[in-house]
Amino acid sequence: MNIKDTDFRRGYQLSMLVGASGSTFLIVFGIIAIVNDRQILGLTLLAITLLVLVSMFLMWLMKNPSFGINGISIAVVIAFTYIISTGGIDNTGPLWCYPLTLIMMLLQGLRRGVIALFVLLIIAIVVMYIPFVSFVTADYPQSFKVRFIASFFALSIMVTIYEFLRERTHKRYIEISNELEHASHTDMLTGLANRREMLARLDAAYGTYNRHGAPFSIIMADLDNFKRINDTYGHVVGDHLLIGLGKLLSSVVRRQDLVSRWGGEEFLIMLSQTDRRQAMEVAEKLRLSVESAVFSDENKYQITLSLGVQSITEAVNTDTMIRDADRFLYEAKRRGRNRVAGPL
Ligand code: GH3
Ligand code: MG
Ligand code: MG
Repeated sequence: MNIKDTDFRRGYQLSMLVGASGSTFLIVFGIIAIVNDRQILGLTLLAITLLVLVSMFLMWLMKNPSFGINGISIAVVIAFTYIISTGGIDNTGPLWCYPLTLIMMLLQGLRRGVIALFVLLIIAIVVMYIPFVSFVTADYPQSFKVRFIASFFALSIMVTIYEFLRERTHKRYIEISNELEHASHTDMLTGLANRREMLARLDAAYGTYNRHGAPFSIIMADLDNFKRINDTYGHVVGDHLLIGLGKLLSSVVRRQDLVSRWGGEEFLIMLSQTDRRQAMEVAEKLRLSVESAVFSDENKYQITLSLGVQSITEAVNTDTMIRDADRFLYEAKRRGRNRVAGPL
């Protein structure tokens, strides 16, 4: 999972939800205010609604959640300032500042959210204690002002703590899902692609082959007499040899090819854009590389591979291609190991 994708979706959905519910509220309150002869309050609420709707429309048009998030945030700041400046109906307007706190943090996330809440707090203090402009018409008792500022501050702190914990959990969740994603197509010991990944890539290559006719081939490779190595030197040495072999195989093939651990000491290699003749050559190159490689810890080990080759042009589908490669592998084993067998 990509953190950018989830953040994009979250921003988009959040703006849609907050924008839709917020503008519904604002329209209802705006109309009620106009009906009750409070034209300025009503028109202001409807103007804020328009700002919210325009930012949602721009977000949809530009496929960019920042338009929704920032447009609605600006609407929140305007609504907040207007409400506490005028007091709303019977000076009860500031009650709406509490949900606005939550909306702001939801929209902006932790870092920008803290800044935004700080700005709102400063606006509240300035409007309540320094009423210097004509539109500040609210008249709050002293005791109310102190309690409003204090409770707004307390709520901001709690919302910040909540958002901090949420973001931390969210990041960890993304990390875990990325780890699981990686593990689901990787072999734990060698770090190569696993069988599931190889089958998916073969399917994809087969699709491309059917559409564009680009041939591809596979090599099934099995370590010779590997049981003897395990029995003689132990499983840990065997494991290290498998890891080293995986690296060696990957270094020989091209970047667009794929080496997978198919099972125990069996590797399946997919060669893209490769016909059967070229695949036989690659298999021989791999055989020679492994034969001449010396794997070492405190001892030195030499191993050999038997390889079976098949190309999609010689097979009915990927299943029969794998079966053929397996058949050729056992032919190579039968003919004495450390050799390549294939459709040539
Ligand atoms: P052949 O040439 O016929 O393939 O002989 P072989 O001994 O390689 O084949 P066999 O199938 O008899 O034995 C395979 C061995 O591979 C048995 C097992 O101990 C070893 N093996 C499979 N997976 C692992 C692994 O993950 N680690 C280690 N160390 N050994 C493994
Ligand atoms: Mg073997
Ligand atoms: Mg085997």
